[in-house]
Amino acid sequence: MSLAFDPSDVSLTSAHFIDGRYVAGAAEIGVTAPSDGRLLQGVPRGDADVVHHAVTAAGAALRRTGWGNCPPRDRLRALHRWADLIEAEAVTLARLEAICSSRPYADVIAGDIPVSAEQIRFFAEFADKEGGDLVPTSDRQVGWISDEPYGVVAAITPWNFPISMAAWKLAPALAAGNAVVLKPSELTSWSALYMAELSVRAGIPPGLVNVVLGDGEVTGKALTVHPEVAKISFTGSTRAGALIMRNVAQAGIRPMTLELGGKSPMVVFDDADLDLAADCLARGILPNAGQFCVAGSRMIVHRSIAEDLAARLVARFAAERPAATWLETPGFSPIISQTQLQRIDGIVQAACRAGADLVCGGDRFEGEGSYYRPTLLAGVEASNPAVTEEIFGPVATFQTFETEDEAMQLAAHPTYGLCAGLFTRDLSRGLRLTRQLQAGTVWVNRYNRSRDHILPTGGWKASGLGKDLGREAYRANRRSKSVLIAL
Ligand code: NAD
Repeated sequence: MSLAFDPSDVSLTSAHFIDGRYVAGAAEIGVTAPSDGRLLQGVPRGDADVVHHAVTAAGAALRRTGWGNCPPRDRLRALHRWADLIEAEAVTLARLEAICSSRPYADVIAGDIPVSAEQIRFFAEFADKEGGDLVPTSDRQVGWISDEPYGVVAAITPWNFPISMAAWKLAPALAAGNAVVLKPSELTSWSALYMAELSVRAGIPPGLVNVVLGDGEVTGKALTVHPEVAKISFTGSTRAGALIMRNVAQAGIRPMTLELGGKSPMVVFDDADLDLAADCLARGILPNAGQFCVAGSRMIVHRSIAEDLAARLVARFAAERPAATWLETPGFSPIISQTQLQRIDGIVQAACRAGADLVCGGDRFEGEGSYYRPTLLAGVEASNPAVTEEIFGPVATFQTFETEDEAMQLAAHPTYGLCAGLFTRDLSRGLRLTRQLQAGTVWVNRYNRSRDHILPTGGWKASGLGKDLGREAYRANRRSKSVLIAL
């Protein structure tokens, strides 16, 4: 097995990035590589002073550069140059991503980086095309809705797709004329840091993209409650989203978008194309070892095809082989940390104690690194923890139904509403049911995000508030002002 890169050759920075410069900090938070458990460079835990430095630098940069009210094509051009540079620096960026995360180097090069660059260009194009509106009023007045940036936006991202998550937050905020202070996950800080450096090299004025490193409790909290932060854009767990809402409510109300957890169903009817459904179901849970928010972790299958489909899934699950993220050929991804691996296993064991049948998997792969076997659990009640909890690992439940009503009842989740998938050749049924499903995204005869960046993504219920991607994400980074002038 050849190496895409040697992890011991990668140099890692223990510093924040503020006002266009690295600001060193003590390496307080230990980081290990999930691929083999090796200890990597630690990262600093930015305290309230570091956060204050970054937020005030962002505000000063906005005032100094006039980024929010410059000719919008200037922002558009700068973002295009940044996207180009991100692609040109793909090798360095992909190493920084793969070394500490669950993302295989080859997948980052082939997918995460070009798609993120495409998304930055997508948002850049809004800068000179979206604006306010003149409104109808009497001929003794002129009224319009002016559309303005917020100022300093705080962005907080999770560890599962660090480059993509940073692009989703930074690109619409910058295109819309804001400055950003980004706090990436403490487990996967380095690719976001390098993206910030590249933004300056691309000609985005220093101070508009700042990165503070640290954990949620200290750094993340200090950022969300800083009085000069005008808007918060968060992606992560529902638990942390709720904490942020509480902290912000106590410190001073401000708008926020929250992209949170999910427990998405994939429903297969008896008239579905079974080859297609089996492939989509497998690809709905296996990539990134199930560590993606839209994972289809609840499979809901018509009884008449259940045996056939389960057998196909078991074969697909059993074929997965773990591989370090720095190998040339991507394999099954590691679980981000030992803590998370133990949590996954804990829920699987609790699910079995509560009556679930273990169809396959149910334990870790032998050897170095933290890898968990793809796991299928059948015979689960609606109250089983494997059904109710977001596991965020390669674990799916398999439930069966007879009638459409039963399928929809099983698909509805008491807490989450991020996504749902339907597989049927009857498109009238497919269309009808898209309206019944309580989810922010519904896919029919396919599963997973596409490159249609115009489609917003975001959850209903406890899966979130507001959207990433799409026109909505750009608009969420601007606020309206009603202006009325008497003539
Ligand atoms: P997490 O909530 O533990 O952490 C996410 C980020 O929030 C990290 O940077 C963390 O340091 C920070 N944080 C934690 N507590 C905080 C607090 N009190 N104040 C401020 N910041 C805080 O999530 P994770 O384990 O990194 O990521 C996995 C979760 O993210 C899953 O629940 C997954 O569904 C969700 N996710 C959702 C989407 C989406 O688009 N809906 C996309 C990716 C991941």
